[in-house]
Amino acid sequence: MCIFCKIVNHEIPCYKVYEDDKVLAFLDIKPVNSGHTLVIPKTHYQNLEEINEKDLSYLIVAVKKIGKLLKEKLNVIGYNVHENNGLIAGQAVSHIHFHIIPRVEADGLEHWPAGEYKEGEAEEILKKLEN
Ligand code: 5GP
Ligand code: ZN
Repeated sequence: MCIFCKIVNHEIPCYKVYEDDKVLAFLDIKPVNSGHTLVIPKTHYQNLEEINEKDLSYLIVAVKKIGKLLKEKLNVIGYNVHENNGLIAGQAVSHIHFHIIPRVEADGLEHWPAGEYKEGEAEEILKKLEN
């Protein structure tokens, strides 16, 4: 059983932020910033490919609710919502989860580095993506 399923089953403790019958949210054990929260479905799905649309919709609406809660109760002004999908993307726990990371002034977090497309590269990508 995965570590997040163990948290759902109360085999491992957590600092619970929110719970209903389908979703659990708890503080990340290694917070990027104070209040860093993980939002997970209670059912084990590995990633975005695996979770069905109904449960994903429910999950992302929960993310929205918890973001609002953090804003209202923790004086959070803004936050990042993040999902690492796959090992290569840094997904360490194979139970889909959204990170909500509160942001504060001068917290030192940086956004992605900005790259640029070579001549014709964007067109090539779109061509590959055509049905
Ligand atoms: P990922 O890299 O898979 O997107 O993120 C996994 C997150 O889960 C990490 O930020 C890590 O700190 C957190 N985490 C891993 N194990 C536990 C745990 O047992 N309890 C809690 N609360 N968070 C955990
Ligand atoms: Zn799991």
